[in-house]
Amino acid sequence: MGKSTLEKFKPAILIVDDVSANRFALRQLLKSIDADLIEASSGEEALVKAIELDNLALILLDVQMPIMDGYETAELLREEEQTLHIPIIFVTAVHRDEQHILKGYFSGAIDYITKPIQPEILAAKISLFMELWRLRFGLEREIFNRNKLEDKNKFLADHDMLTSLPNRRSLFLEIERAAARSDRDNHEFALLFIDLDGFKSVNDTLGHKVGDAVLIQIANRFSGLVRKTDTVARFGGDEFVILLTDISNSQFLISRITEVLEIARKPIFIKNEEISLSVSVGVCIYPDQIDDVDKLVDYADIAMYKSKELGKNTFSFFSNDMDQAAHRRLTVEKQLRHARKKNEFSIHYQPVVNCNTGKPVGVEALLRWKNSELGSVPPDYFIPIAESSGLIHELGAWVFEQSIETITEINKRMQSLPITLKVAVNASTLQFKNSLWFKTLQKAIKTEKISPENIEIEITEGLLLEDSSEINNQLSKIRALGISLSVDDFGTGYSALSYLKRCPINTVKIDRSFVKGIPEDREDMVLIHAIIAMAHGLGLVVIAEGIETQEQWDFLKSENCDFAQGYFFSKPLPSQELETWLDKQFSGK
Ligand code: C2E
Ligand code: CA
Ligand code: CA
Repeated sequence: MGKSTLEKFKPAILIVDDVSANRFALRQLLKSIDADLIEASSGEEALVKAIELDNLALILLDVQMPIMDGYETAELLREEEQTLHIPIIFVTAVHRDEQHILKGYFSGAIDYITKPIQPEILAAKISLFMELWRLRFGLEREIFNRNKLEDKNKFLADHDMLTSLPNRRSLFLEIERAAARSDRDNHEFALLFIDLDGFKSVNDTLGHKVGDAVLIQIANRFSGLVRKTDTVARFGGDEFVILLTDISNSQFLISRITEVLEIARKPIFIKNEEISLSVSVGVCIYPDQIDDVDKLVDYADIAMYKSKELGKNTFSFFSNDMDQAAHRRLTVEKQLRHARKKNEFSIHYQPVVNCNTGKPVGVEALLRWKNSELGSVPPDYFIPIAESSGLIHELGAWVFEQSIETITEINKRMQSLPITLKVAVNASTLQFKNSLWFKTLQKAIKTEKISPENIEIEITEGLLLEDSSEINNQLSKIRALGISLSVDDFGTGYSALSYLKRCPINTVKIDRSFVKGIPEDREDMVLIHAIIAMAHGLGLVVIAEGIETQEQWDFLKSENCDFAQGYFFSKPLPSQELETWLDKQFSGK
């Protein structure tokens, strides 16, 4: 609170006397006191003014007044909530005896002062009251502020700051309450786990502010949709949970879930941007599907993943086989932790060929995992698990070091080859947020095992879209080592082309989903044409992935694509087989 508010709350003293000369005399005596001096010429006027003034610290009340005397006035002041606590000093010339003093106290007076008034006594008493008033006012204000802060803190502890919805903490409390009610009344309730589809792209391309605005709008829509007895909570990020309490009939439940999907699909307008989103919903019913309150959210979350797998914008009910999928994931994570020590990882190398000569120029290193229990686990499956469990950092560093070593060896052994093989290594976005990655790259360059121009790091569009100074800094540092950077799976994300100019990128890799469309899909072919033209315009090199047929190969050559990769040339190979393959390519057999 600023000084001005304090000044506004300068205390006021109400001087009540029917004789104006007495009022004037009191005013003179109080001149030196820092307070507003207000006068009233009767008890009635005093009552009105006392209620009006919100800074009234003291009333100097003449006892002897016509119509309503001082005692009566005091009694009435005590009856009003607003004036109940305002101290009164009776000013009297006559009633000095004990009884009258007592009467004064009954009517609520605080003190007496007798006429003729002795200025020092009056000043001393009044400044004491002023001091009290200031203390009390200050205290009240502090309590008020503290309560406000406490309310705010309490609200923040239970609510999500951005959307003002109940947060994860209060959601769990609410689930417990709902379960208790459900046990008691013998009815079911549904928990909807909701994840926004494509929210990350919104955040990445339009910025966090727009992302936040989207979350707020979605939160408001959900809140508007449910009944009073239901709960909408923000679980975190772009995840929401809705508790639906009244689900007596399954058709009705499905219609309510459908409403959630529909309302999320309605376009969102923010700053001239029209944003279309959808949601993936997982549903779990208590106690029908699971009677363990602690697992309810997890199970609905698992069901939500099913909706994602089904292509998003849909809902799925939890089922027991999903639980098995979740268990499998946990098993995989557990096995993954020991895979390095058990030597279960290997790296395969897929050749990359020059479009002009058709000859190999390099390889892409692709991680393989063969586990004793699980068999061969595809990287698309275990890489995300390695990411979420934090194992990716060491694993990524291992892949890099291993690949450099292997390719260096091959280059040494095959010195008769007319080329020096380059190697491209995939890196997950997370690796750029951990210092190990840069250190690993730096070490390899320092030890001069391989010349940096023969190394390429493949990153995803998502990394560039993050547009954080931390990541841009990392990328520049890697470029400064002489290592090239390529954008993998180009065209599958939001493909904001502006970042290609902004970031220190050398190469784009056209995603194989575009190549797949050749020669039937005109649109894919137009896109490939445009990507190559645009990349070349920016001085970038283009690699096409996933070439499987002669037609695709011919088309890419005719489009002036620089390099190509795919089963048409070779599958990813273990290093030994790669050597044989390379030999064959250059021996012209
Ligand atoms: P990616 O980086 O897009 O790798 C290319 C994938 O396409 C590889 O799948 C490769 O085997 C496959 N491929 C190559 N040519 C063809 C073709 O002509 N037709 C078809 N249908 N597929 C082809 P893979 O080895 O299963 O790897 C899948 C993904 O796993 C990779 O996609 C990459 O994102 C990730 N990955 C693999 N190794 C690593 C790694 O060491 N680190 C990280 N962070 N990710 C990795
Ligand atoms: Ca790749
Ligand atoms: Ca790729």
